[in-house]
Amino acid sequence: MQNNKSDVLIIGAGGAGLVAALHAHENGMKVRVLTKEYPTRSQTCMAQGGINAALGNAGEDATESHVQNTLKSANGLASEVEIRRLCENAPEAVAWLDSIGVCFSRTKDSKIAQRALGGASASRACYAQDYTGLKILHTLYDRCLACGIEILNEKFLLEVLKNGNKACGVEVLDIRSGVKEVYSAKAVILATGGYSRVYAKNSTNATASTGDGIAIALKAGAKVSDMEFVQFHPTGLKSSSILISESARGAGGYLLNSKGERFIDELKPRDIVSRAINDEMLKGEEIFLDIRHLGEAFIDAQLPQERKLAKLYENVDPVHDLIPVKAVAHYTMGGIDVNDTTSTCVDGLFACGECANHSVHGANRLGGNSLLELVVFGKLAGESAALYAQDKSYLHVEVMSKEEATKEIQVDFYKVREELGELFYKDVGIVRDKKTLEKTLEKVNSFLEQTSQMGVKDTSHVYNTNRIEFLEFQNTLAVSKMILLGAIARDESRGAHFRSDKPQKDENYSKHTLQDLQGVL
Ligand SMILES: Cc1cc2nc3c(=O)[nH]c(=O)nc-3n(C[C@H](O)[C@H](O)[C@H](O)COP(=O)(O)OP(=O)(O)OC[C@H]3O[C@@H](n4cnc5c(N)ncnc54)[C@H](O)[C@@H]3O)c2cc1C
Repeated sequence: MQNNKSDVLIIGAGGAGLVAALHAHENGMKVRVLTKEYPTRSQTCMAQGGINAALGNAGEDATESHVQNTLKSANGLASEVEIRRLCENAPEAVAWLDSIGVCFSRTKDSKIAQRALGGASASRACYAQDYTGLKILHTLYDRCLACGIEILNEKFLLEVLKNGNKACGVEVLDIRSGVKEVYSAKAVILATGGYSRVYAKNSTNATASTGDGIAIALKAGAKVSDMEFVQFHPTGLKSSSILISESARGAGGYLLNSKGERFIDELKPRDIVSRAINDEMLKGEEIFLDIRHLGEAFIDAQLPQERKLAKLYENVDPVHDLIPVKAVAHYTMGGIDVNDTTSTCVDGLFACGECANHSVHGANRLGGNSLLELVVFGKLAGESAALYAQDKSYLHVEVMSKEEATKEIQVDFYKVREELGELFYKDVGIVRDKKTLEKTLEKVNSFLEQTSQMGVKDTSHVYNTNRIEFLEFQNTLAVSKMILLGAIARDESRGAHFRSDKPQKDENYSKHTLQDLQGVL
């Protein structure tokens, strides 16, 4: 193996990881990025709608409106200071992306084009057709390669290694060879994405969004916060959960029930629209997105991916047909608890992107604010890790992990994974109540006990996907317990966390739910 030391080691090559890498590199650090897939398969590539910045290119807008919209959506559960940092840095973040080559769509007078997304008082989302995340990620990847940043693919994070309370490296599994490897570093940044895949196929997310970094950070002694806040997106395709972007509603698309009636203002925040869909479905209605009136020319120019996805995965052509949709798990507001420098409570361990809680989304994220978070807080994480690493030396790295013993497999984890996903969608979804949450927790505890009877049937080393999926499943299970503990502890309703037994907001809960491995703190 090549020299395994780097000043700053980043786990995850999505938008957050690559932005952090570029900024740590710019601060003179030797940077290495490890990722379990290829960078271009990261979740970030799936982002369609856009990235928010109050540029005012599509009508009047102001940074203060962006701040106020974000505060309102966060519902008393975010830091105003951090929201101001997010929104005030937004124009610069978009200008930076533009300067490194992201090909944003343009207005007739060559300004960056902007469109409306839910919960925003202005057309604020800057976009590249409906391929915004893909264009951003490809450009970041290109920049990293041009800067000589080393990106190693197919390395699965197993553990953050510590010396005392200081992070000093990681242990990973090389997926190609099946061999474990150790990388040491002065500072480690986790940028491993969210945990919506707890909901299995009822999620818009890439299969890799299994909350690995969060489960592993917890084991390393970090804390997590607000894990109960999972955002449901109103328009996942009915059969596959693949996302039809909010930009379709932003452009004027309608939501209809089986009677052809509109039942909600489509541009309300996602928690409200998703609950309205849930209510309709409980009455036996099917839900459809209707964009036929936007016309073929507009759809092909502005929403080409949505048309392709609807044709391919739902067998309908949105130019002529209604699109069957349902609300599905989409974004996770909770994550690794970080301070205002993106540092966790473990020295030298930082986190950014969807795996972290930067206290900007609170109870409900606004569409377009996540890509923005990757750029603003990815930069901060790169700079903070560089500052931390600057005067540190490499610490001794001790690996405690033991070889797994061969055992008889009595429980098929694939079946449990599917059961968990269905259970969460039904009982820890858009509407929850304490009794059902407690029952689900009992079930999850019993799954956790049974993990000793689960395992990997495939004993090969090279590209053993059975082994990787088992590791991911265990991380998902750990994260699912955190979601439940948070949802039970939060005895109120707020944003994406709606408890039918406590339907009102309670000011006593206007604070983050903080947890460590032992439980809610
Ligand atoms: C369909 C869809 C559309 C969206 N559209 C928008 C939008 O228009 N605007 C917006 O603001 N937001 C949007 N979002 C949200 C946004 O895309 C994500 O929040 C964001 O891209 C997350 O970026 P990230 O860098 O934190 O994580 P990711 O892009 O998920 O990257 C995580 C990285 O970590 C790696 N990784 C994970 N686990 C391990 C492990 N164990 N070992 C090693 N590496 C690991 C992965 O391989 C990957 O490289 C959308 C989300 C979805 C699902």
